[in-house]
Amino acid sequence: MKPWQQSALRAIPPVNEILETPTGQRLLAERARALVVDAVGEALDALRRKIAAAASEEELAVLDRSPEGLAADAAARLSRRLRPRLRRVINATGVVIHTNMGRAPLAEEAVAAIVDIAGRYNNLELDLSTGERGSRYAHVEALLAELTGAEAAMVVNNNAAAVLLMLSALAAGKEVVVSRGELVEIGGSFRVPDVMKQGGARLVEVGTTNKTHPRDYEEAIGPETCALLKVHRSNFRLEGFTAEVSVAELARIAHRHGLPCLVDWGSGVMLDLSRYGLPHEATMPELIAAGADLVTFSGDKLLGAPQGGFIVGRRDLVERCRRHPLTRAVRVDKLTLAGIEATLKLYLEPERAAERIPAVRMLTASREQIAPRAEALAGKLRAAGIACEVIDGVSRAGGGALPGVDLPTRLVAVAHPAPQEVEARLRAFDPPVMVRIQAGLLLLDPRTLWDDELDVVVSALRSAIV
Ligand SMILES: *Cc1c(COP(=O)(O)O)cnc(C)c1O
Repeated sequence: MKPWQQSALRAIPPVNEILETPTGQRLLAERARALVVDAVGEALDALRRKIAAAASEEELAVLDRSPEGLAADAAARLSRRLRPRLRRVINATGVVIHTNMGRAPLAEEAVAAIVDIAGRYNNLELDLSTGERGSRYAHVEALLAELTGAEAAMVVNNNAAAVLLMLSALAAGKEVVVSRGELVEIGGSFRVPDVMKQGGARLVEVGTTNKTHPRDYEEAIGPETCALLKVHRSNFRLEGFTAEVSVAELARIAHRHGLPCLVDWGSGVMLDLSRYGLPHEATMPELIAAGADLVTFSGDKLLGAPQGGFIVGRRDLVERCRRHPLTRAVRVDKLTLAGIEATLKLYLEPERAAERIPAVRMLTASREQIAPRAEALAGKLRAAGIACEVIDGVSRAGGGALPGVDLPTRLVAVAHPAPQEVEARLRAFDPPVMVRIQAGLLLLDPRTLWDDELDVVVSALRSAIV
């Protein structure tokens, strides 16, 4: 170490001097002393490292070594440390249900219900009519029955848990027949054969990858069979020379043999999407009407509710799930229930649901509805000196829902010689802004943006494009 570095190290202000600055005093008034002292210590360590790494006295000269400068650095470090790690992110990718970005954003009604319940006591397991112990599963059962046409319903932590519980309660030690075309993997950690094994059920595979016929199921049914299971393919599409057995047909086969027809439908669509120009997806009421005895689905995919796993169907089967010991391990939380109840209430008025539930609104938005927001964003960007173009493109539903379906949209395209670097800077912005890069262009899809996010996107791009 050079003499000028050694004297710079000796001249570093002591901790008390930094704490006595106005910024230091403000920090001490707001925060616990130990936290403030830690942050000052970090600021001093950083300065010492910079002094040691300096190559010349000129480099030292630009370092802020004043007590006030160090206090400000400590304040910045403290606020970074106290900032939540789980943060709000702006999704300009156009992928509506993005597992990495927390899946479905909630309706304001659901958020308000959660806030109302979160900070005070509630009747989670209290029957207010008798004052006795009640069931947490009762709060949404009647609503789910009304919306789906099922006799009974319950909600657990997520759909993976719902499937595991359903198989554990109904199929442990017995055989369950599934098509080879439906032995899917969803998001890496959920594989149908593994969940079957975990639930203690023996998997009987029938059919081939591309074709499964009614007779395949018929021939596989034996004395050990306890159910026929249908699984939504969720994240891929089977095209070409294919055949599958519909839920209605599968239910008829099952019932002829006195067996239940179980369905894992994943995305949990409640509205008829064909009314919005999308391909038809069987809705929960349609599956129940088709004869499914138990259907499981996720709360935070296309239903647009908090994370949850729904089990709806025959009362005796739901009852067996509810009584199984695993139910306690996968039980649903009060905040989830509050959000789910509020979201489901919106479905009592389907038009309202499509308008108020963000995931449904975004999914069903047409290119014509998105175009004005794309133009507004482009106008703001140009006003900020950022050249861009509005072009046709497609968005995705994401989240293991509507695989391969193109949702026509209008994109704002920004050309930049180093799009990856801009993308990284947008991700580091506060709040982080997530975009797509395609053919060397930065693409912003207004499908997943709120109007009040446009200005933030513009600020982020202004600071990211240098
Ligand atoms: C998404 C999905 C699951 C897993 O649901 P989670 O809510 O993520 O636990 C299971 N089965 C199917 C068919 C799915 O699409």
